[in-house]
Amino acid sequence: MKSLDQFCLDRLGELDAQALRRRLVVTNRGAEGRAARQGRAVVSFSCNDYLGLSHDPAVLEAGRSAITSHGAGAGASRLITGNHGLLPELEAALASFKGAEAALVFGSGYLANIGIITALAGSGDVILLDELSHSCMFSGARLSGARVEKFRHNDTADLGDKLKTAAAGAGQVMILTEGVFSMDGDLAPLPGICALAEAHGAWLLVDDAHALGVVGGGRGSAHAFSQPCRVPLQMGTLSKSAGSYGGYVCASRAVIEYLSNRARAFVYSTGLPPASAGAALAAVQRMAADPALCARPSELARLFTQRLGLPLAQSPIVPLIIGDAGQTLAISAALLEQGFLVTAIRPPTVPAGTSRLRVTFSASHDEADVLALADAIEALLPADFAAP
Ligand SMILES: *Cc1c(COP(=O)(O)O)cnc(C)c1O
Repeated sequence: MKSLDQFCLDRLGELDAQALRRRLVVTNRGAEGRAARQGRAVVSFSCNDYLGLSHDPAVLEAGRSAITSHGAGAGASRLITGNHGLLPELEAALASFKGAEAALVFGSGYLANIGIITALAGSGDVILLDELSHSCMFSGARLSGARVEKFRHNDTADLGDKLKTAAAGAGQVMILTEGVFSMDGDLAPLPGICALAEAHGAWLLVDDAHALGVVGGGRGSAHAFSQPCRVPLQMGTLSKSAGSYGGYVCASRAVIEYLSNRARAFVYSTGLPPASAGAALAAVQRMAADPALCARPSELARLFTQRLGLPLAQSPIVPLIIGDAGQTLAISAALLEQGFLVTAIRPPTVPAGTSRLRVTFSASHDEADVLALADAIEALLPADFAAP
């Protein structure tokens, strides 16, 4: 037997050898997409704060005033005494913005997925999920005890085949995907997926962590197509474009009532702190009132892809797939030297051999920032770089 420390040190050594070891770096973020990192003032293209709302004066004031009136913490789980007044207000604002009957706020997006999936699926059921789905959907799916099967990324033909087999069984079938894929920036083909789900009676959950506030006029992926798609479980986070913290799901009243009784990550976890809820509420109100703000990050992403001759961005996320982890780190380090923060994304966050620079744009960047970054990246890309 190894000692606990030796076990950890051995594993870390393996990660080091593959350029896959990760380290915490202090990054102090400021307004306007600026940050301080490793003693350097940088423009960050690695935040999910797509609308710059984490530093918006009205959002900050809402957070402060929530602390003043409700305290620093919720004090208990929601079903006991942790349901302070800002939470139902936030849920009403989310449901109204997204055009759903009701909403439920969780402690985080990660907890929301774990809670929703395990409450709705169990042994005897089948969960079909896009192979590039976020880690927390895989965690929820495995934890549920259902049979878990991946379908090829955004491939409705493959999903259709797997759905036929799954729907012939006795249990329920759930389909899980992301509205805007977090590491690739592409959109799920929701019109096709919704039609398949309806045809087979499967329950569709779409994770809009990177879609809320940025596609479909800010209302998310179900609204990003010429016809609104009927997505019965629209899940998302308040930690990205909403600039705060917390997770949510928008659904029918029946589903929300059930989840508030049976989603363990909701029932047995403390309510979201007032400051986070108050700030998120102000952010959602701002999104609903300002579609031009919601359109801005994707406009800047398109400016960037046009400048580099890449396929036109579909969202504020643009991946530049380098492949090798070490080479990706070296480009990221060279960009940091020039004042641009673009972190390297490596396995296991992305599949082996697809290490990448993940560039994210925010409404708080200006066009000069974007063009300067494009020119710096162009000079650093390997000669054999080819866009997908
Ligand atoms: C960030 C993210 C989550 C987790 O949300 P948190 O609120 O940060 O826990 C879930 N799904 C996707 C696709 C994400 O990108």
